[in-house]
Amino acid sequence: MFEKTGVATREMVMTKFPPIERINNGPVAVVECYQKIPCNPCSTACPFGAITVGEDINNIPCRDENLCTGCGQCVAKCPGLAIMIVDGSKSDETVQFRIPYEFLPLPEAGETVVGLDRAGQPICKAKVLRVMNPPAFDRTPVVTLEVERKYLYDFRNFRREAEANG
Ligand code: SF4
Ligand code: SF4
Repeated sequence: MFEKTGVATREMVMTKFPPIERINNGPVAVVECYQKIPCNPCSTACPFGAITVGEDINNIPCRDENLCTGCGQCVAKCPGLAIMIVDGSKSDETVQFRIPYEFLPLPEAGETVVGLDRAGQPICKAKVLRVMNPPAFDRTPVVTLEVERKYLYDFRNFRREAEANG
C-alpha cells in the first residue's frame, strides 16, 4: 500500500506517535520517516539528543519522547518535511500542530484553513495560530495550527480557503 501510494497507513502512523499521555503532557515531535534513506539532519539538529539515527546514516530515525522537549528545531531542518510537533496540553477539545509549510502565500495568524489528511483529502477546519519564518529556517516556514482533537492522527497538512475556492 505505502509502496504504491506513498501514503502511510494508520498502522504505520501510529508507530510514530508517542502515547496520548505524552502528547497531553506537552509538545513532542512526530518523525514520519518510513524508509531507509541516507539522511540525518533531524538528528544533528536536535539539541537534546532526542533523535537517533545511529552509525548507519541509512537507519530510520528514532525519537525518544522522554528526551524531546517539543522545541521544534528539527521541523524546518528535515528536507523531507517529515517532522511535525503535536501538543495536546492546551485543551481537552483541540490539539496543536506545528508543521513545515513551503507554499506561498503563507497564511496569517487567525486565518481558518482547510485541514488535509495524509492523502491530501480535506477532513476538517484548522485555525492558524502562528507562522514562523526566520532566516534560520532556510525557507521552510513552520505553521502552528489548532485542530479538533478527533483529527489528531489524521491531520497532516492544510491548504488555504482561497485555494480551496479556486
Ligand atoms: S522537537 Fe526539539 S527536542 Fe524534540 S526531537 Fe525535535 S529538536 Fe529534538
Ligand atoms: S531529516 Fe527528515 S528525512 Fe532525513 S532522516 Fe530525519 S526525518 Fe528522515
